[in-house]
Amino acid sequence: MTHINKEKPVLVTGATGYVAGWIVKKLLDEGFTVHASVRNPTDNDKLKYLNTLAQQASGTIKYFKADLLEAGSYDEAMEGCELVFHTASPFINKVADPQRDLVDPALIGTKNVLASVNKTASVKRVVLTSSVAAIIGDAIDCSKMPDGAGTEAHWNTTSTLNHQPYNYSKTVAERAAWEINKKQNRWDLVVINPSLVIGPGLNPFATSESFNIVRQVGDGSMRFGIPDFTIGVVDVRDLAEAHVIAGLKPDAEGRNIISAQNTGLLELAGMLRKKFGTAYHFPTRLLPKSLVWLLAPLAGFKRDMINRNVGYPWRVDNTKSIQKLGIHYRPIEESIVELFQQMIDNGIVKKK
Ligand code: NAP
Repeated sequence: MTHINKEKPVLVTGATGYVAGWIVKKLLDEGFTVHASVRNPTDNDKLKYLNTLAQQASGTIKYFKADLLEAGSYDEAMEGCELVFHTASPFINKVADPQRDLVDPALIGTKNVLASVNKTASVKRVVLTSSVAAIIGDAIDCSKMPDGAGTEAHWNTTSTLNHQPYNYSKTVAERAAWEINKKQNRWDLVVINPSLVIGPGLNPFATSESFNIVRQVGDGSMRFGIPDFTIGVVDVRDLAEAHVIAGLKPDAEGRNIISAQNTGLLELAGMLRKKFGTAYHFPTRLLPKSLVWLLAPLAGFKRDMINRNVGYPWRVDNTKSIQKLGIHYRPIEESIVELFQQMIDNGIVKKK
């Protein structure tokens, strides 16, 4: 049982991120002093929306400069904190160098943050933002799991630096976190494993891959059809709430899949079509797998990824999040519609 003193500051790494934005907002609304680690604390334009959130809330925000790749970078930001949320990690699909662009920041970053935790006597709990990518490598792997669905007991054993490198980065980072945690007994580790996050963002500059995926569903790139990818999705606000509960609930523990629903890209497109009608280029049919396979390299995807994912049901079991963390998931239709509306308002997607 870990009890967190709400008068003490809490650290959120990667505070400028899509997911972190809502975590910071919830913490500020609850009156916390948030130590927000960012790469550039003097970029006032980039931090303006966080300052506005703080002005509207009872809590306060303080910025600290930190980089995942620099040892000791998080020491100052962590001083006096009992609770640390480690969210910073790149979520990008297309990278030039997977080791440099994904694995190093995820793995070295996690080790650096936890080395600071080991040095900071005040820290009692770390909440790590991992991913369902650390549970399931490819959709085909679900067929080997009981009931065809990933649970907190499963680990991704199929991703590598060359195959699904983002999934690999999240897997090695989470494994390292558990190893470091097990070597001591002062702080406990609670891991959050979200599926694809959707819903409105707070940061107008956020670069999360979530936005690219949803944008492509409605910007015409898939007007002739969409690959048969099944995925899990969760609203960013529900995910932020899960983080805060995981941080404060004394008996929160272990890994926690946070995913509202198992669905598919075509189903998401259908939800958007229902709301926005035919004004946008929403796909209405699935592309044959053979065509997706053929065209994959042109879209920057590897054929092996297509082989092991398109047409296979991808599923996770979210029971633990409902029973143990008490999460009430909002309907994903609401989340996808609100995110798409934001993209329309910001001129990111245009009518036909
Ligand atoms: P995001 O908006 O791109 O946020 C990533 C954050 O990481 C940004 O604050 C970024 O800072 C920071 N970061 C990247 N490289 C860094 C470095 N070298 N040093 C310090 N900070 C660095 O992505 P997100 O979607 O919110 O993802 C947040 C977390 O959720 C990640 O751990 C991701 O793996 C996990 N997750 C996301 C999803 C999803 O669907 N979005 C699903 C499952 C898990 P800058 O602003 O300076 O770039």
